[in-house]
Amino acid sequence: MKFGVSYFGNRMPWYVQKDLEMLKKVGFEIIVHTYSENDFKFYEKTMKKIAQMSKEMGFETWADPWGWGGIFGGEAFSGFLQNNMSEAQIGNDGRQKGSVCLRSERFKEYMKQWIDSVKEARFDAIFWDEPHFHIPTPVTDFPEKWTCRCERCRSSFKERYGYEMPVEYNDDISDFRNDSAIEFFKQMTEYAKQKGLKNIVCFLPFETDLFGIRDFESIAKLSSVDDIGTDPYWFAFGLPMNPFVENASKTIKKLSQEYNKTNHMWLQGFKVPHDREQELIEGFKTMKDHQIEKVFFWGVYACEHISSISPDNPKRTWEIILKIVESSR
Ligand SMILES: [Zn+2]
Repeated sequence: MKFGVSYFGNRMPWYVQKDLEMLKKVGFEIIVHTYSENDFKFYEKTMKKIAQMSKEMGFETWADPWGWGGIFGGEAFSGFLQNNMSEAQIGNDGRQKGSVCLRSERFKEYMKQWIDSVKEARFDAIFWDEPHFHIPTPVTDFPEKWTCRCERCRSSFKERYGYEMPVEYNDDISDFRNDSAIEFFKQMTEYAKQKGLKNIVCFLPFETDLFGIRDFESIAKLSSVDDIGTDPYWFAFGLPMNPFVENASKTIKKLSQEYNKTNHMWLQGFKVPHDREQELIEGFKTMKDHQIEKVFFWGVYACEHISSISPDNPKRTWEIILKIVESSR
């Protein structure tokens, strides 16, 4: 069992180094550096320093396209979308949404430039974090409200199905969205693979039309994907820990065996409610029982420094996380 943690919120290498030394001492072996569009635009050389420093300290290093295009998870905005509004997903109400279209060639080109940069910084892998279509608010509006009905999508839908893309959601749209996600990932992961980077995919923890990736399998089986995982954050979804974690672990374990991939899972170290910190230990045990190979925590210092998702008691949450890692060494 290996442990990893995500790192963000600080771009000063001299402080990053201190944190990394502490994490190494505790027993973490993999570090996931968030690498947002903002970082790419304004901190590229700094990111290179941080990546190399992590590598030199013996960490396996993963780069996370945090919040990229609004189609990946993360507390970060998309500058690309701000400057290229024609590349946005369009709702069936005809309005632009705050997420980029997965069929946007311009966005894919931009992503490839980032992959080049990730390679140059000598990261080991790309951590494709929670890919999803635009999610309507409230979520119950789906499938009455859905994306993407932009010109690109409408024309390729018509070519494929022989009729105009309807305004009302149907099975063909569901297939089309899933296929758009597969095509996007096939192109991006193959590009990264050619450069010698590993591809790690972390799915949102439900196989559902709502997120646009109906089944993990269609992406897990891509030959360019090396590792799969998911993040059953039970506090965030307002669910009891089990059977949520149990089912997610089973699904990932089974798929990874079937397609000969390595696997990983995430535990929620953010927004942990008062007096429920101990549940992380139980969640970890469930993952361990299902022989998950790598367990990750989101994120460093239990996210104390990111107030929008900080736990009620971040110090206690971080202590529990450290206890899990230290006692498993
Ligand atoms: Zn589109």
